[in-house]
Amino acid sequence: MKAREPQLEAADALIVGAGPAGLTAAIAAGERGRRAVVLEQLQRPGAKLLASGGGRCNLTNTLPPEDFMAGFGRQGRFMQPALAALDAAGLRRMLDRLGVATHAPDGLRVYPVSDAAVTVQAALWRRARAQGAQVRLGVRATGLWLEGGRLRGLRTTAGEVAAERVVVAAGGRGYPSLGGGTSGYHLARQAGHTIVEPTPALVPLVARDGWVRSCAGAAVAPARAWIAIPGRAAAGVTGDVLFTHRGVSGPAILDLSGDVAVLLGRQASVPLRLNLAPGTAAEEWRGRFQAWRVAEPRRAVVTLLDRHLPRSVAAAVAGLAGIGPTVRPTQAGARSLGRLATLLTCLPLEIVATEGWDHAMVTRGGVSLKEVDPRTLASRRLAGLFFAGEVLDLDGPSGGFNLQWAFSSGRLAGIAAAAFSAAEA
Ligand SMILES: Cc1cc2nc3c(=O)[nH]c(=O)nc-3n(C[C@H](O)[C@H](O)[C@H](O)COP(=O)(O)OP(=O)(O)OC[C@H]3O[C@@H](n4cnc5c(N)ncnc54)[C@H](O)[C@@H]3O)c2cc1C
Repeated sequence: MKAREPQLEAADALIVGAGPAGLTAAIAAGERGRRAVVLEQLQRPGAKLLASGGGRCNLTNTLPPEDFMAGFGRQGRFMQPALAALDAAGLRRMLDRLGVATHAPDGLRVYPVSDAAVTVQAALWRRARAQGAQVRLGVRATGLWLEGGRLRGLRTTAGEVAAERVVVAAGGRGYPSLGGGTSGYHLARQAGHTIVEPTPALVPLVARDGWVRSCAGAAVAPARAWIAIPGRAAAGVTGDVLFTHRGVSGPAILDLSGDVAVLLGRQASVPLRLNLAPGTAAEEWRGRFQAWRVAEPRRAVVTLLDRHLPRSVAAAVAGLAGIGPTVRPTQAGARSLGRLATLLTCLPLEIVATEGWDHAMVTRGGVSLKEVDPRTLASRRLAGLFFAGEVLDLDGPSGGFNLQWAFSSGRLAGIAAAAFSAAEA
C-alpha cells in the first residue's frame, strides 16, 4: 500500500512555484524573518530558468529603467516599484554576493559568466534554503483555502496548508514540459480576479507560404520584420530571422509574435513583411543588378545573391521573382529584376498560426494589473494574496526582460508579503 504523503506544516508565507519569481520571493521573505514554504509541482526547481537563453540564461539587460519598462508596452510603468525594489544592477549585485558573477558580452544582454543557467538556479535554491525556506517538490497547489471569504492558506496535493500570506508565482502557460499551465490563473480567479485572455508570445510563427520549407535552417542576420496592416506603424523589429520547416522564427520574429498571436485571435491570417537586407533600398538593389549585368555577365543571379543571403533564401526569393537557378543577370528581364528588388526589401509572408503553447517562451495576458497594487503586488480582491512574475499580465521582448521582471516582482512580493499582517488587514 502506498504510504500517505505527510501533511505539510503551516508556514508564514506560502509560495506557489519555485521559478525565479517564487525563489526570489522566498529569499526576500526569509530575510525578513518569515518562514516560507515554496510548493513546486515539478521534481526540480526553476525548470524554465534552467532552459532560459538556450541554457545560458539571459537574466537581464543593461537598459536604463525607462527603456526597460518601455519594452513591456503601455503597461510597462506598472513595474516601477518592483524595479525600485530590485533593478538590473541590484540583481547583478545580489547574484554576485551569491557567487554568480555576470557579464554583458554584447554590452546589452546579461548572462552569468559561467554561461550556465544552472549556476543561477543553484545559487537561488541555496540562498532560499539558507533563509529558512522549505521547497516542497512534487506538490501542486490545487486551490485557495478560503473560509468566510478570508484566506486561510492553500489546498494542495499534499493536503491543506495554513498560511496568512500566499504568493502566486506560478508562471504562464508556455512550455508545459517546463511547468507551464493555467493553475496560477485558476487560483487568481478563485479570489475574484479577472484574467486577460492568455495568448502565446515569443513563439515561432507558421506561414501559409510553402516555399519557406526550402529555406529551413537558414538565418538572415539581420532582417527587418513588420506586420503589414494598414494604419499600423510599420517600424517593426530588426534582428535575426530564422526560417523553419513551417514558417519563421529567430529574435525579430519572436518579438513580433505576441502581436501576431493577438491578431490571429481576430482574423484567419496576418500579413508579415521581411526586409532581407535592411539598409539596402530597392533602388540600390536595382543599381546592383545593373552592375552585375556589366561586371558579372556569366554568373547566375542566385549565385551573385549568395554574397548577401544564404543560398537557399537567395534561390527561393529569386524563384518567387521568376528567376530560375541558372538565369544570368543579362538573361533576366527588367520586370523580373524589378520584382526581385521589391521582394528583397518587402518579402510577403502570410502567417496563419503560431507554433502554440508548447513553444511559447512567454505568455501575453494573465492576471489583470488593474486588480493588483503595483506598490506591493498585493491582490486588491483578497487580503494576504500576492502575485509575482509571468502569471501577471506583463510580457516583454526577448533579451532578459522577462527574467528581470520575475526577479524584481518576486522580491517586491516577498518583501510586501513578509510585512503583511492579517490582524491589521
Ligand atoms: C525555453 C525558454 C527560454 C527562455 N529564455 C529566457 C531568457 O533567456 N531570458 C528571459 O528573460 N526570459 C526567458 N524565458 C522566459 C522566462 O524563463 C520566464 O518568463 C520566467 O521563468 C518566468 O518566471 P516565473 O517565476 O514567473 O515563472 P516560471 O519560471 O514558469 O516558474 C513557475 C513555477 O511554478 C510552478 N507551478 C505552476 N503551477 C503550480 C502549482 N499549481 N503548484 C505548484 N507549482 C506550480 C511551475 O512548475 C514552475 O516551476 C525563457 C522561457 C523559455 C520557456
